Amino acid sequence: MSFLAGKKIVVMGVANKRSIAWGCAQALRNQGAEVIYTYQSERMKKPLERLLTGEEFLVECDVASDESIERAFEEIKEYAGEIHGVVHAVAYANKEDLQGEVTEISREGYALAQDISAYSLIAVTRFAQPILADNSGIVTLTYLGAERAVPNYNMMGIAKAALESAVRYLAADLSPKKIRVNGISAGAIKTLAVTGVKDYQKLIQLSEDRTPDHIGVTIEEVGNACAFLISPLSSGIIGEVIFVDKGVHLS
Ligand code: NAD
Repeated sequence: MSFLAGKKIVVMGVANKRSIAWGCAQALRNQGAEVIYTYQSERMKKPLERLLTGEEFLVECDVASDESIERAFEEIKEYAGEIHGVVHAVAYANKEDLQGEVTEISREGYALAQDISAYSLIAVTRFAQPILADNSGIVTLTYLGAERAVPNYNMMGIAKAALESAVRYLAADLSPKKIRVNGISAGAIKTLAVTGVKDYQKLIQLSEDRTPDHIGVTIEEVGNACAFLISPLSSGIIGEVIFVDKGVHLS
């Protein structure tokens, strides 16, 4: 069954083959969707291109800039006309804010992490909205550290709490317009982003130890949940954050 046949989905945040966004892109493609990719900067374009066939539509989008987001969705509109979903899998915090004590977080570090990791979902939704077809979906990625004090996750946990709240408010605004907004709270996976967290190995070890088979959740499993949440198969799910962590959050 290909439940996304003929759909065009924008995936933001593929840095390399370990990226959660890459797992999402693969799962969306497996369900018949065409994936449109955005990359942060020229520097990030090459590694993305190496993963692709050359046929795909790629566009630069730095979520720190409204102009960049606006331009990206204008280009996507020119290419695709309308789209059926957006996967927001981007986040950033300074390394010094992913260790030590939360009282040490600077005003600048706080603003930066909130801007890239939480506000960006609002800005992306604003510019994507005009070209999102009826019954489309927006999915973002979050982590258990939004609701628990996970060692060293610090600033990102605070930003993820804001992101999860933004999911609910955006969902309330957009659901009457036939656009559903949801989040996936993924288990810890070794990606580029997670290596910014001090002692990230412990975070991943913890996530593996707490699963029933001691194998951590994979980007394929997160991707499959993402494809479901983007698709009309999940039409009854609005403004929800779903754990895709093989039960780690239970203990
Ligand atoms: P990743 O490093 O592969 O992806 C992070 C992406 O964010 C990169 O592609 C990077 O280019 C992009 N990005 C950062 N700043 C940006 C900007 N200004 N403009 C545009 N893009 C920007 O790591 P990942 O773990 O796959 O992260 C994807 C998402 O999943 C993030 O939101 C992350 O917090 C979340 N998440 C990760 C884990 C985990 O354990 N890896 C768990 C739960 C949630």
